[in-house]
Amino acid sequence: MSYAYEVLQKVIERNPGEAEFHQAVKEVLETLEPLLNVRRDYRRAGILERIVEPERQIIFRVPWVDDQGKVQVNRGYRVEFNSAIGPYKGGLRFHPSVNLAIIKFLGFEQIFKNSLTGTPIGAGKGGSDFDPKGRSDGEVMRFCQSFMTELYRHIGPNTDVPAGDIGVGSREIGYMFGQYKRIKNTFEGVITGKGLTYGGSLVRKEATGYGLIYLVNEMLEDKHMSFEGATVVISGSGNVAIYAAEKAMELGAKVVTMSDSNGYIYDAQGINLDTVKLIKEVNRGRIKEYAAIHSTAKHYEGYDGIWSIPCDIALPCATQNELNGESAKILVKNGCVAVGEGANMPTSPEAVEIFRENKVLFAPAKAANAGGVATSALEMSQNSLRLSWSFEEVDQKLKDIMVSIYKTISEVAKEYGCEGDLIAGANIAGFIKVADSMLVQGIV
Ligand code: NDP
Repeated sequence: MSYAYEVLQKVIERNPGEAEFHQAVKEVLETLEPLLNVRRDYRRAGILERIVEPERQIIFRVPWVDDQGKVQVNRGYRVEFNSAIGPYKGGLRFHPSVNLAIIKFLGFEQIFKNSLTGTPIGAGKGGSDFDPKGRSDGEVMRFCQSFMTELYRHIGPNTDVPAGDIGVGSREIGYMFGQYKRIKNTFEGVITGKGLTYGGSLVRKEATGYGLIYLVNEMLEDKHMSFEGATVVISGSGNVAIYAAEKAMELGAKVVTMSDSNGYIYDAQGINLDTVKLIKEVNRGRIKEYAAIHSTAKHYEGYDGIWSIPCDIALPCATQNELNGESAKILVKNGCVAVGEGANMPTSPEAVEIFRENKVLFAPAKAANAGGVATSALEMSQNSLRLSWSFEEVDQKLKDIMVSIYKTISEVAKEYGCEGDLIAGANIAGFIKVADSMLVQGIV
């Protein structure tokens, strides 16, 4: 039995019911075989056994009072997964589907993603089953303050630096930062994605979406293709989806869809992003409203159907496992040539296999959406230096990072005998740096 397989079996046994975590671990471990065959020292040092076990897992009660004066109780999480190459770093997700399995899958993936950015950050992830949708600003503030009243004791600019994710945007970050500062009586860069008036970085808002397009563009150019004139299907209508659409359009693509958890809109003329920003960023509305404003668009209930819209490039930017095997077959049949994962683990294992068999170019999340956390690391640098870099400066650094990630993962894939397999390239390249750091730091 191979070392990777043995460890995977133990993970499944020791973490029952955590399907998403098993899925994420399996996807990484099965691509590491070519590396593990030459690096026998990893087995002796128990690197795999250690890397799949979070360094620390914190679960806590989050009580708060709603607008009717009723006490509500949510569950908070912070999983500090790996600090071999820097302080724990990773977002907070507020969504009713959040549980330990989701936070652990995200935290595990974060290890390799953060390593790929080339910046000195370890990996963590957290969040709550709280749903900010439909809640008043006052309710969101009281929840965030209660959440931070427990979380503050576990984090710090050199210990653990959270950021946003699904359901956590500038409003939530502001409330959490305010509460941290109040409790600690310290103004420090403990969280990223901050507002520009109090230590945030330009381009952080755009970073994940822009970064996705920069990386996918490198992948396309390698095969003498580009976004120019391409039809692009994007799912989601949150932070990642909006700025991926913006940059893809800037590069000459026509983006024809966006979605939320109720359904998707299809505008064959090309999406009007100003309308989407108004609906989602200003009014906190639903994507359905777009079709009432633009007669060229139609709204469809349910979100699977989005993948049946013919396109050249598909960019899943909503949530995990949103693109399944059936959808992948339809995309291939309709001539889709490239897929880039803006969301974390949006493509199911069956769908990945179908793309592989059909030679669809595939940019995995660990590399493709690393621009967000990379820019968070740039925000941390600016906070430490007490400086603010210009939009152009940060955008250029982001672009350089994404180009360098693409170069690294394609070269590493080739070096380990799996040319063109960017999943293997990203996993192996991200893993080596962390594993080698663990190796020299003793058994910790
Ligand atoms: P947002 O909360 O801004 O937007 C999420 C979008 O996805 C919304 O349109 C939401 O619709 C939709 N969505 C969420 N859950 C579901 C679901 N279960 N089914 C269908 N649609 C759903 O989040 P982000 O844009 O920040 O995050 C999107 C993805 O990108 C996530 O996988 C996240 O982990 C990943 N990511 C984000 C980064 C960042 O910097 N923000 C960095 C790296 C990765 P609705 O409004 O109906 O819930």
